[in-house]
Amino acid sequence: MIYNFNSGPTMLSPEVLQEASEAVLHYKANQSILEISHRSHLFEEILDEAKLLLKELCQLNDDFEILYLNGGASNLFAMIPMNFLVKDKSAAFVNTGYWSEKAIAATLNFGEVKIVASSENKHYSYIPSIVAKNLESEYLHITTNNTIEGTQWKNFEAVDIPVFADMSSDMLSRKINYNQFDFIYASAHKNLGTAGCTIVLIKKNLLEKINENVPAIFNFKNHVDAQSIYSTPSVYAVYVSLLMLRWIKKQTLKNIFSNNELKAKILYEAIDGNNNFISEVEKEFRSEMNVVFKAREKSVEQKFIHLTSTNQIINISGHRTAGGFRAAIYNAMPMEGVEKLAALIRDFK
Ligand code: PMP
Repeated sequence: MIYNFNSGPTMLSPEVLQEASEAVLHYKANQSILEISHRSHLFEEILDEAKLLLKELCQLNDDFEILYLNGGASNLFAMIPMNFLVKDKSAAFVNTGYWSEKAIAATLNFGEVKIVASSENKHYSYIPSIVAKNLESEYLHITTNNTIEGTQWKNFEAVDIPVFADMSSDMLSRKINYNQFDFIYASAHKNLGTAGCTIVLIKKNLLEKINENVPAIFNFKNHVDAQSIYSTPSVYAVYVSLLMLRWIKKQTLKNIFSNNELKAKILYEAIDGNNNFISEVEKEFRSEMNVVFKAREKSVEQKFIHLTSTNQIINISGHRTAGGFRAAIYNAMPMEGVEKLAALIRDFK
């Protein structure tokens, strides 16, 4: 087996791949999954079950609507302010790195941005606290796991405005009370499926606050009213996401969460135990999803990458803006893959 540590799209479980590939040739009613109509009862069943599973696994209360939207989380960076911001109003942001900055940049096209906390001063190596108590913005936006920098929010402070969370790289990977947020979104292609769709959990009361004149295709209410079939959805990506959700349920959340914790612990211990490597993330904010580290001597990085590639391990190079290494250990990364990488880190001289 090849262990793919890419930050996404990345490994899916063998069972999911098997079922997804069988569905291409023969799904139901002698049709390929690639050929079924998005308006057929076959797709309706897929969407309904996926939404039901999301509700169950996230233990969501009835205040939420669940959507599958086309595209990735980047689309949401623009759609959110388009729906909820106007020129003279502001959105509050906690800036924790590359993806927060992308969301901030998209927001500036529609209104003002107030940075209420930032870890930019220390190269985004920690999660900053929000000091102000009255935020006086339309909403607060946070990135719960910073895929490139390798930091992760551990506690969520209560604030007095709606909280919007980009959970692209840690949704359903650890215990979180989803009901404390007002809007959650995640590209499917890390923990929850493959590229092509984004999961959105939106509190119903937000639908009343949507701006007029939002182009129809970008208006969240239209997607809610059309039950995620406002335009042709990415049928196959939604199906793969359903398979992943079924797989997560079968593993049980308890096992998924404890495995993820253990996988991260094994890797960080290996890194901390070999002086050739260093993790620059403050320990209490280390991500359980993206283990970011470096070689103390840059010149040996290629040697280590070569070593991993001859040991069934691929894609551990850091993001092109960050360099170093990054091991993404999402839900479907097996323990054996992590143990294999940890052994190489431990023994590297
Ligand atoms: N937010 C986070 C935290 C990410 O890791 C990514 C990268 N997949 C994005 C947003 C952007 O997602 P996409 O490329 O699917 O638009």
